[in-house]
Amino acid sequence: MRIETAGTVVVGSGIAGLSTALALDSCVILTRSDLGSGSSRHAQGGIAAAIGPGDNPAAHAADTIAVGAGLNDRLVVDAVTSAAPDRIRWLEELGARFDHNGSHLALGREAGHSARRIVHADGDATGAEVMRTLVAAVGTRAGIDVLAGHDLIDLVRSEGRVIGVLALDPVGDPILLLASAVVLATGGIGQLFLRTTNPREVTGDGLAAAARAGAELADLEFMQFHPTALAVPADPLPLLTEALRGEGALLVDEQGEHIMEGVHPDADLAPRDLVARTVWRRMQQGHRIGLDATHLGEQFPERFPTVWEAAGAYGLDPRRRPLPITPAAHFHMGGIATDVRGRTSLPGLWAVGEVASTGLHGANRLASNSLLEGMAVAARLARDVASTATLPIMDQGRLEIPADALSVDRDRDPAAIESIRKTAWRWVGIIRDAAGLGAARDLFGLRGRTGLVERNLRAVGGLVASAALVRTESRGAHFRSDYPALDPAQAHRSTVRPDVAPSVTPAPRSRI
Ligand SMILES: Cc1cc2nc3c(=O)[nH]c(=O)nc-3n(C[C@H](O)[C@H](O)[C@H](O)COP(=O)(O)OP(=O)(O)OC[C@H]3O[C@@H](n4cnc5c(N)ncnc54)[C@H](O)[C@@H]3O)c2cc1C
Repeated sequence: MRIETAGTVVVGSGIAGLSTALALDSCVILTRSDLGSGSSRHAQGGIAAAIGPGDNPAAHAADTIAVGAGLNDRLVVDAVTSAAPDRIRWLEELGARFDHNGSHLALGREAGHSARRIVHADGDATGAEVMRTLVAAVGTRAGIDVLAGHDLIDLVRSEGRVIGVLALDPVGDPILLLASAVVLATGGIGQLFLRTTNPREVTGDGLAAAARAGAELADLEFMQFHPTALAVPADPLPLLTEALRGEGALLVDEQGEHIMEGVHPDADLAPRDLVARTVWRRMQQGHRIGLDATHLGEQFPERFPTVWEAAGAYGLDPRRRPLPITPAAHFHMGGIATDVRGRTSLPGLWAVGEVASTGLHGANRLASNSLLEGMAVAARLARDVASTATLPIMDQGRLEIPADALSVDRDRDPAAIESIRKTAWRWVGIIRDAAGLGAARDLFGLRGRTGLVERNLRAVGGLVASAALVRTESRGAHFRSDYPALDPAQAHRSTVRPDVAPSVTPAPRSRI
């Protein structure tokens, strides 16, 4: 096996991975697919930052907490929301071109935000512009080496410390990369579910690897389902950004009846979980639900070019008819438990972006807070890694990796993967109960083949189902039909130590 060494290895090249790499003096980026792959470049709505007249980070923090259903970590919320204006400036200095109204940044409004504070680019193509900027910046840094087309298999440990990664290189040969610091930035778990907005590379690999290495995980049961993905035969499903509803688009059934009327005072801009459940229940009753943005008329193509293009690819014209929609798995609030510096419970391991769970989002994410989180935590993480004394690469004689790691390959069994995704969608999806969660947990526990993706989807599916089974209440994005009410006694973040049963426990205080 090829063995190489690096100071710091960053796994993943979305906004979190690239922001971390740019903040470090030097590192190796090891990434699946191409540099800049992942959910980040598909982000539409934008980045939340309290920079408008009369707005301030305290209001942004209050909105984040209001949506988070009592589980946000206050210190993390304050740290991230107050970093937002500076992170926008940083992106502009790197060359990002955001939309303007005259000399000011144009600010959009999204659900849960009490002010216009969503910075966006090219209308609804914010992620593409941000990632174009970050990829270009990485290209100018001599200290950053890129290993594209590589897949993380597992973390390598020695005496309780993470000392590197085992990966597959582009031709499928294993490579051992030893490092004094490992940063996981592998994104969320959307591809666990049959219907998702997340691209195909987002399969929960970093979360699964961290679990196998024994890292503490948090809030795994909280998966956000976006109410409005375009209901077309595609994987991933094209997202219909919430900014559409921010600009007045309405959810209607096939008769044109406005389905959010009377459901919540904010109607179509109610919290995502409530909107997603309302849509899903109506669909289960046999209705076809659409998003009616016909009032935008001829402004549509210019204001929402990404949605316009996606709809056009399926012969749909949003200027004339409501677009058919379905909820879809979108964002994982849970992940590897970290503080606001990205520190995990394992020495030598940091995590950032959607793979991590800092407590920023609580039980539900406020729209446009996740691109921000990736950048805000990356800056602190890089300082933390730099200030941590570099330890010598450990003696290779004592390396620990999971027993089956060396037989993992890239083979995909499409039928097995589809079956996992259907199981997750049906039983670990928008509306859950004990019987379904228990069945899913048992099914995911079955050993599959050695394919990388199947191995990780099974691991993550089992962890999410187990955590969802333990939380016997409904809170934020986690809804149990057998426990439909919020239980004040469970107003705690949940933690999973993979070697111990999942529990709903008071969160450890953040170390900032
Ligand atoms: C369609 C869509 C629209 C969104 N819109 C918004 C928005 O407007 N505002 C907002 O704040 N958030 C939005 N989000 C959420 C946001 O985009 C993500 O939460 C965020 O981009 C995650 O960034 P990340 O860097 O953590 O992960 P990602 O951007 O997903 O990057 C993960 C990286 O890890 C790599 N990777 C995965 N597995 C492996 C492996 N085994 N080995 C090596 N590399 C691996 C991937 O290839 C990728 O490079 C949206 C998400 C989607 C899907």
